[in-house]
Amino acid sequence: MNKITLYANAKINLGLDVIGKRPNGYHDVRMIMQTVKLHDILTLKKIRRKGIFIKTNLHFLPTNENNLIYAAIKLFMNEYHIEGGVHVTLEKKIPVAAGMAGGSTDAAAALHGMNQLYETYLPLEKLQEMGVKLGADVPYCLLGGTALSEGIGEILTPLPPAPACYCLIVKPRFAISTKYVYENLALSELTEHPDIDALISAIEKEDLMMLSSSLGNVLETVSVKEHPELADIKATMISFGALGSLMSGSGPTVFGLFDDQSKANAAFMHFKVGPYGKQSFLTGFFQPG
Ligand code: ATP
Repeated sequence: MNKITLYANAKINLGLDVIGKRPNGYHDVRMIMQTVKLHDILTLKKIRRKGIFIKTNLHFLPTNENNLIYAAIKLFMNEYHIEGGVHVTLEKKIPVAAGMAGGSTDAAAALHGMNQLYETYLPLEKLQEMGVKLGADVPYCLLGGTALSEGIGEILTPLPPAPACYCLIVKPRFAISTKYVYENLALSELTEHPDIDALISAIEKEDLMMLSSSLGNVLETVSVKEHPELADIKATMISFGALGSLMSGSGPTVFGLFDDQSKANAAFMHFKVGPYGKQSFLTGFFQPG
């Protein structure tokens, strides 16, 4: 095999709770992760020339070691003593710096790709051990589907597939730094936490209504205060008939869950012609085969 093409799916958080802070600054989380049918496309090609070469449709993305794809391939090559080089083309569709694990899912796809391209056939756990060195969300991205993520994100429990629905994703134009959000989270002052167990139970019962009414992200306490537009986007989604709406990760992406296609479409068209048009997607949950 000389060349491989991979889809790298984005994720949303149906639930995100922070339960503690470690002395090293890392946070202990409890998150419900869900992959969606929005993906980047990566093509990895073996080349004779030594090195890792990345070409992408987004001119502002790094193509050197600061790109997580580069870091993932380098790590893989070092650990398995691979000679030669790899050429990567990345077609980026997932909004960048959006709380959708865009970089992490590309890194995960690159590890899966290298594993097949060089016929190493490492088990998932081995790839995840490598992945966590690249980022806390990479082990989950290697797994995909619906999962509970604990620790700093590396302790994963697969869950049954979340009930099917229409998922509207809107990425506002402003950026929110993940570091800023976590640093400004007043953990000891929080009086309410998302009910992660209720979400798990809703998923197990395949109950979309319960799932939608249990959505919760503790990081909204920081982001929504900073950017009230986030609350407006959520309210708009609800006014169009979303069963629930939430910010994903540390934001600023907001998603809404619908059980009715025409309502989801009407909401999508509303955002499509507005200021967030280019970064609005109507999609659904993705479960890896
Ligand atoms: P998370 O949900 O894990 O916090 P995110 O959606 O907030 O991720 P990313 O899209 O991964 O953030 O991008 C964060 C930064 O990482 C970008 O500003 C970008 O410069 C850098 N980056 C490195 N590699 C990639 C990649 N392959 N795709 C996107 N961004 C990348």
